[in-house]
Amino acid sequence: MLNRRKFIERSAAAGMLSLLPSVLKSNTLSGKVPVKKQLPVIISTWKHGIPANAEAMKTLQSGGKVLDAVEKGVMVVEADPENHSVGIGGLPDRDGHVTLDASIMAPDGNAGSVCFLENIVHPVSVARLVMEKTPHVILAGEGALQFAVESGFKEQNLLTPGAEKAWKEWLEKSHYDPVTNWENEPNKYHDTIGLLAVNENGELAGACTTSGLAFKLHGRVGDSPIIGAGLFVDNEVGGATATGMGELVMKTLGSFLVVELMRNGRTPQQACEEAVMRIVKKDPENKRRQVGYIAVSKNGETGAFSLQPGFNYALHQGGENILIDSKSHY
Ligand code: ASP
Repeated sequence: MLNRRKFIERSAAAGMLSLLPSVLKSNTLSGKVPVKKQLPVIISTWKHGIPANAEAMKTLQSGGKVLDAVEKGVMVVEADPENHSVGIGGLPDRDGHVTLDASIMAPDGNAGSVCFLENIVHPVSVARLVMEKTPHVILAGEGALQFAVESGFKEQNLLTPGAEKAWKEWLEKSHYDPVTNWENEPNKYHDTIGLLAVNENGELAGACTTSGLAFKLHGRVGDSPIIGAGLFVDNEVGGATATGMGELVMKTLGSFLVVELMRNGRTPQQACEEAVMRIVKKDPENKRRQVGYIAVSKNGETGAFSLQPGFNYALHQGGENILIDSKSHY
């Protein structure tokens, strides 16, 4: 975990980076810039996107629907107890409750989500059932849990010993300043998984799932289950998903904005950059928070942009599944 001193050092480094021309800041782990327009394509947030993408691609290749692909992809991360920001093993709120948010969108524009859900390892699958089996879009808290249990999901304690230890350490000072991206070890796993897929026929779906901000106030809901904020897919245009400080994403309805910008002719890259700039213009919090967007167009072009350096995403396209460092505003 990042302590305060390391965070300040990192912020100082970020400040120095902002003096560099943006072309120098744009590095990729593979050295490749994703300008391909090739289907199928899977794109997802952070390093945990690599195994998620692999599972999603496997699902597509074995004849699965694009909706099955996005669900199965993010389920890999939800089920990983070592990942402290999604599903089981997620860091709890300040009262010790692991509360999960998730959403899913289908090619026909249908959407479902759950928020403030406890004790269920796969909130994305509950979100899918909300979409498919109810006339609603969002179920929250107790009601979402009741719906999940009635639908056959098993309840399970999601607070792993590792997450409990981190919470107890945090309780010693109980200082709340959500420095996004610090839930996990650097370069290991980070934050929300948002995953977008376009199959060979150009059909689009997306899913997003998270335990939200560590040590948040009990009852806090982030951007991930809010359709248009943490996730938006329009089968005519493309899709977008977000990670980082959900409050900044919600106040600008970021994923919807990215898709609307693409509808109006921006490339996925331009759209992500413009949505980040909207936060820079509108929200003074932008200087000390992280937000990252990824996007894909119906023809398979991708883009990504973040406020701060440090955001990366996984891209599975043309037979390769690679991790790429996003360009950032600062
Ligand atoms: N966007 C998520 C939230 O605000 C957190 C994250 O991506 O780290 O709940």
